[in-house]
Amino acid sequence: MGRDEGWLAEHMLILGVTSPQGRKYHVAAAFPSACGKTNFAMLIPPSDLNGWKVTTIGDDIAWIKPGRDGRLYAINPEAGYFGVAPGTSEKTNFNAMATLKENVIFTNVALTDDGDVWWEGMTDTPPAHLIDWQGRDWTPEIAKEKGTKAAHPNARFTAPASQCPSIDADWENPAGVPIDAFIFGGRRSNTVPLVTEARDWKEGVYMAATMGSETTAATAGQQGVVRRDPFAMLPFCGYNMADYFGHWLKMGEKLEAMNAKSPKFFCVNWFRKGDDGKFVWPGFGENMRVLNWMIGRIEGTANGEEHAFGISPRYEDIDWGALGFTREQFEQVISVNDGLWRDELSLHDESFEKLRQGLPGALPEAKADMEKRLAA
Ligand code: GDP
Ligand code: MN
Repeated sequence: MGRDEGWLAEHMLILGVTSPQGRKYHVAAAFPSACGKTNFAMLIPPSDLNGWKVTTIGDDIAWIKPGRDGRLYAINPEAGYFGVAPGTSEKTNFNAMATLKENVIFTNVALTDDGDVWWEGMTDTPPAHLIDWQGRDWTPEIAKEKGTKAAHPNARFTAPASQCPSIDADWENPAGVPIDAFIFGGRRSNTVPLVTEARDWKEGVYMAATMGSETTAATAGQQGVVRRDPFAMLPFCGYNMADYFGHWLKMGEKLEAMNAKSPKFFCVNWFRKGDDGKFVWPGFGENMRVLNWMIGRIEGTANGEEHAFGISPRYEDIDWGALGFTREQFEQVISVNDGLWRDELSLHDESFEKLRQGLPGALPEAKADMEKRLAA
């Protein structure tokens, strides 16, 4: 319907972000399943950035239409939130936990002896006894001995959106909210920088079309391998993916013809790992620092540096506040390694080869431009 009627039906969260000066922006972000949409949609800025405020419009689906003014307006067609339970805690996603006080359906979580639920990561210390997601007795000792999880890694909750403390006043506004930026991102332990801005719509579509993510419990098959998930739409796209890329490119041309300020495209990766196998970037609320940089780019007040893949911030371009993230740590999450990028681009080729029927010429062209920049 979106293709035929000229709008976008997307696997995206929608959030509102208000600056300390009271200016409000809206971003829509596509991350594959279990890559942080619900968390990002309910982000609580760190205390040194508490002049900023994030409000939630949707955490999974966006329907986006061009308005008469040439801007894109997004609505959330859903009534509730549906999230991965393990890892969700008052520390990582306070708003999600507050949403789960009542009227909730849980799947594959563990049960406590007093009839409540529990999952890995909810509390630092697990309860002394649980019934696990398969109905068996579970204790921390059994878990240690047999390696069994109390909750399935893809255990879920769903609850009415209206219960979310960060819900945006416009979340049910039928006119939607005007989108200032699209963000794409998956789980990549290397290669893809913390944040990259696309130079134009075409490059943004390229970023989204070649997005990859290391597989998790939310995906079928082997875990931890890079799977291409264009626009995070692999499980949802209802027609030929290459034609869907074409639909996005056409939308860009249409907006350009309307002479309006089109959204910027960014690619993020919260999941680069260090030599110790741990995430280098603290993520969650700290992602506000990246969002802050993006808004600076939209306003034309933040600087960045061009590289083969796009534009990324330098260390001094980000407001580090109280975080104490070092230059060395930043280098680990932002660096663009030429060798890794050559391999990455050949994987993009493989993906385009699979999608070659109807593949818009603009995408191989964008790739050729990147190759030229890499060679230079
Ligand atoms: P969704 O399925 O895309 O909505 O993803 P969720 O927001 O439910 O998060 C999926 C998993 O990723 C959970 O285990 C989260 O704790 C984890 N996660 C979300 N955001 C971040 C982040 O910024 N950094 C890290 N390291 N993990 C995150
Ligand atoms: Mn979600």
